[in-house]
Amino acid sequence: MTRTDALLEVRDLSVTVPGGATLVDRVSFEVAGGERLAIVGESGSGKSVTARALLRLDTDVTLDGSVRLGGQELTTLTESELTRIRGRRASMVFQDPLSALHPTRTIGAQVAEPLTVHGVGRREARRRAATMLDELGIADARRRMRAYPHEFSGGMRQRVAMAIALVGEPDLLIADEPTTALDVRVQEQLFALLGRVAAERSLAVVLITHDIGTVAGFADRVLVMYAGRVAEQGGVGSLLGAPRHPYAAALRAAVPRLDTRPGQLVALPGTTPAPADRPAGCAFHPRCPVALDVCRTSPPALQPVDDGEVACHLVREVAA
Ligand code: SF4
Repeated sequence: MTRTDALLEVRDLSVTVPGGATLVDRVSFEVAGGERLAIVGESGSGKSVTARALLRLDTDVTLDGSVRLGGQELTTLTESELTRIRGRRASMVFQDPLSALHPTRTIGAQVAEPLTVHGVGRREARRRAATMLDELGIADARRRMRAYPHEFSGGMRQRVAMAIALVGEPDLLIADEPTTALDVRVQEQLFALLGRVAAERSLAVVLITHDIGTVAGFADRVLVMYAGRVAEQGGVGSLLGAPRHPYAAALRAAVPRLDTRPGQLVALPGTTPAPADRPAGCAFHPRCPVALDVCRTSPPALQPVDDGEVACHLVREVAA
């Protein structure tokens, strides 16, 4: 599937660690300008490794394949060339905002820094930092720029981390479980805020999450990963409304709904196998309630369906 309007084009991206274990195996997807893609999967699915590989944040892994941003290949850039991309054209926020914040530097200095390192004057950088904090709902932003991270709540610290990521006006934000450590009410506020800011700025977002329930009101497209591979991807309506891959269906079924009675949740037994322990055939077959004989020996190839693609023998059999 190739789209002509893609801002980010990821083609056959593989990530291996020393010793040869493959964390991510030939993952391909595209994100258009202003589009929001959610990459969903359990712990060990490879979703965060994929996100970090886009900007080559991990230096101890080997990448194969292609990552193009605005037509520019990122996998072959030098570290100094990549530094010019990070924060300006693409930036990241992480689950733990404290990891992105320096404890003894003021909020204002940290939000202004992505601008000053790229040559913006100090006064202008602080003005734009205050505007960004204000946009992200930090009341009395100019005064609070003099505060330190420990003076902010977890939700406010994540807003500051988002301000640092967005102040350089990137085209793409990669958000890796940005709300996981926060309570549900604050999560909802942050998603609403991020959605509004992204729409106003035509910002493309790649959201990494283990919780498929959080993507319904936020993402345009969803990509489900299992054991380092794409299981299914497609538009949010079709993937959440009628998931075709049994793993995507299990994730969807595990989301509590308002009409769900206690004890009615569908739990997915087992866990994602470690990269070195992936079974032959479809890696999901030991957990799959509808596995066929062929699933134990032959890995399913991705095949196009409606507005997406799915890797499952059962889907191919039904289509045949
Ligand atoms: Fe289940 Fe087979 Fe489809 Fe894998 S390929 S998800 S084991 S039916």
